[in-house]
Amino acid sequence: MTVAAKTTERQRAKPTAAASSPQPTDLLAWYDRHRRKLPWRAPPGQRADPYRVWLSEIMLQQTTVKAVGPYYARFLARWPEIRALAAAPLDEVLRTWAGLGYYARARNLHACARAVVERHGGKFPASETDLRELPGIGAYTAAAIAAIAFDASTTPVDGNIERVIARLYALDPPLPVAKTEVSRLAQALTPPRRAGDFAQAMMDLGATICTPKRPACALCPWNESCAAYARGDAETFPRRVPKREGQLRRGAAFVARRADGFILVRTRPAKGLLGGMTEVPTTEWAKDFDESVARKGAPRFAAKKSPKWRRIAGLVRHVFTHFALELTVYAANVPARTTAPEDTRWVAISELAGEALPSLMRKVLAHALHSDRKHKVQPGKDRS
Ligand code: SF4
Repeated sequence: MTVAAKTTERQRAKPTAAASSPQPTDLLAWYDRHRRKLPWRAPPGQRADPYRVWLSEIMLQQTTVKAVGPYYARFLARWPEIRALAAAPLDEVLRTWAGLGYYARARNLHACARAVVERHGGKFPASETDLRELPGIGAYTAAAIAAIAFDASTTPVDGNIERVIARLYALDPPLPVAKTEVSRLAQALTPPRRAGDFAQAMMDLGATICTPKRPACALCPWNESCAAYARGDAETFPRRVPKREGQLRRGAAFVARRADGFILVRTRPAKGLLGGMTEVPTTEWAKDFDESVARKGAPRFAAKKSPKWRRIAGLVRHVFTHFALELTVYAANVPARTTAPEDTRWVAISELAGEALPSLMRKVLAHALHSDRKHKVQPGKDRS
């Protein structure tokens, strides 16, 4: 490497100070002109309804605004206020949530609605401390509700805000190590007035201008105060510790179809992954799954003659947060009125859409039922 090239490298690596410090008023002025229109947001100048803020924040965890939109509208139409949601059966809530993924959120949503009614007379508490006592409400959601619905001077730090702060200050420590520093800096920037708008403005800036790839720095109200922009390497922030991939798990799923148009299903245990959701019987999902003995895990019917299980070509793949899964699917036809084995039940194919089927199971059913091209079930478009 030549001396000139080395000098250029050093110049690039050396942090370049931004011209000024970021001013909340600049961001708020930008927000007043460019705020996103989102169904859960209150019109400018009005205080948001805590129920709507909470519902949207729970749905938005790990899920995009686009995916949440129709679910939010459906929930609100069905349960326009918290007392109605608290009075609904959990099954119905899970069914309405089906397809949105991360199902523990739906169970906590329901438990939280009940807790707000029982402990707080149907009104969300305003303090972050009290909010955090409620099921499914962690530090981020408590801060979001407190700031957006009650204008408390606090800053919920989501992925968008993390990115904006990491770039503004060109933070070198990687996430998640830098989380505490990010929160401290975000809090220090938060103005005493319009804290809720400020939090939403940061979220909007991250979602529309300070995007993960190719941030539109020229349009950013903070570009003169941004250290990463001054250095010219905004896209490299936030730094991240490389993720370790979860080990692949494998298993078999069994789709038994009765001649009179029913599918055998069961309900998963209430606790744990996909808790309380509907599934077709499966083997364990294991790292050392042995396909040669998979059929032994098939449901056992009372009839003398066991059904003939046929392997459907191909695999169903699904990625959970901590691991990837591959399922081999087996299908069998059984006579009409065959009795369901213990802990399973028959559901009419025409009624499957009303079941709390996670997207993994929609894929399994689509794979099996499409294979003989007689019945069709829409594969899920969501995450689990
Ligand atoms: S100047 Fe660019 S990198 Fe910095 S905050 Fe604005 S959009 Fe993000």
